[in-house]
Amino acid sequence: MPLNIPETQHERIVVIGAGFAGLKLVRALRGTMYQVVLIDRNNFHQFQPLFYQVATAGLEPSAISFPLRKIFQQQNDLHIRLSEVINVNTDDKLVQTTLGDVHYDFLVIATGANTNFFGMKQIAESALPMKTVGEALNLRNTILKNYEAALTSDDPSEIESLLNTVIVGGGPTGVELAGALAEMRTYVLPKDYPELNFRKMKIYLVEASTKLLSSMSASSSDKATRFLEKLGVNILTGIQVTGYENDEVLLHNGEHLKAHTLIWAAGIRGELPKGIAEVNTGRGNRLLIDEYNQVKGLDSVFAIGDIALFESDLTPNGYPQVAQVAIQQASTLAGNLKRKLKSGSMKPFRYYNKGSMATIGRNKAVVDLPFLRFQGFFAWLVWMFVHLMSIVGVKNRMLIFINWLWNYMTYDQSLRLIMKPGKGSA
Ligand SMILES: Cc1cc2nc3c(=O)[nH]c(=O)nc-3n(C[C@H](O)[C@H](O)[C@H](O)COP(=O)(O)OP(=O)(O)OC[C@H]3O[C@@H](n4cnc5c(N)ncnc54)[C@H](O)[C@@H]3O)c2cc1C
Repeated sequence: MPLNIPETQHERIVVIGAGFAGLKLVRALRGTMYQVVLIDRNNFHQFQPLFYQVATAGLEPSAISFPLRKIFQQQNDLHIRLSEVINVNTDDKLVQTTLGDVHYDFLVIATGANTNFFGMKQIAESALPMKTVGEALNLRNTILKNYEAALTSDDPSEIESLLNTVIVGGGPTGVELAGALAEMRTYVLPKDYPELNFRKMKIYLVEASTKLLSSMSASSSDKATRFLEKLGVNILTGIQVTGYENDEVLLHNGEHLKAHTLIWAAGIRGELPKGIAEVNTGRGNRLLIDEYNQVKGLDSVFAIGDIALFESDLTPNGYPQVAQVAIQQASTLAGNLKRKLKSGSMKPFRYYNKGSMATIGRNKAVVDLPFLRFQGFFAWLVWMFVHLMSIVGVKNRMLIFINWLWNYMTYDQSLRLIMKPGKGSA
């Protein structure tokens, strides 16, 4: 069955994935003599860096999700298909999806990454990941439902377990989530649930390596640790989680942590479409690419963003799986595809690291720029400015800004709704 894309005299580029990489690429191809087909399983783009604010009731999902058809209203010869790619046949240059098939002249795989549970079945079944806006919303529902359940329990041990949260992974996501939850525990939850004693609620942040934010500078890592400790987060570094049984998180040192909520922010693996041979993949289930973002050994197939792995002496583990890499790779690839139209030669990709940052809560953030590091209130302002400017759409930007201002002034997040399909959330 065909995907019903109009026949064309132009060469066709099929892009799988409308994340940071796919979105930037398709935008940059506007006005070129290519026909572009954009396929995603969602009809919206998701701004992953703010998922933790959806999970902690600070932002509505709609504030960080943008409908693709609205973004591309003005773009000609672009065909968007809401569909799941189920197979890529590189011999026949064919992409097979749940809605039908489409042939390509050039294929760009920008499918990102998914949660990696490192083969731990028990954890995969029970832990809450945060890789989609739906999962962030599920996290919000689960946490709030646990507090509701704690109200009607008369077992002190069960109440403790329902209040506690264990977050696994001390990267930016784990750190930001722990900080936001700790602030909720201080400012919001005791007012919402006066019958519960939130002084007993424990937030654990468990990290396998020896420090938090290990990809950032030592000063930012230390400061983030101190910020979190001040907020009352229990930080366990050098500790591996090995399982989850009867609401107990099992640690490699034999200790157990009692918690109904286990959040998994500890690793990702490439979201590889089926049909690509193992020989084309490398570490982390990612596609091996050359310096032009071309998948090694495959004709006319490119990969950009989290799914792509560029191995070199300088980058033995590839580029970091962050938005800036995805956006910059998309820009370079768009330029190269345009050059192809004029039979020009391609330019190699060079990553320019603009820096990294993480926020820990009110007035608290850490920022590492290439030549400058700073932490605290000014870093927090910079964090907010950068994230606001990265949001797609003026309306969303304003909505988020007003939300943040309101939350800042009132010490409150107003979106504590448990929303599920069906008659009610009970
Ligand atoms: C919670 C969280 C916080 C983060 N915070 C930051 C941060 O602060 N700063 C930063 O730089 N980076 C951050 N990142 C990482 C950043 O979001 C990623 O590096 C970036 O999204 C990668 O872009 P991408 O386009 O490669 O993939 P994605 O943005 O993940 O997009 C992939 C797209 O492909 C689609 N797709 C996948 N498979 C299929 C299929 N088979 N069929 C159809 N569609 C498919 C998906 O629906 C998705 O839209 C964060 C990530 C997470 C999860």
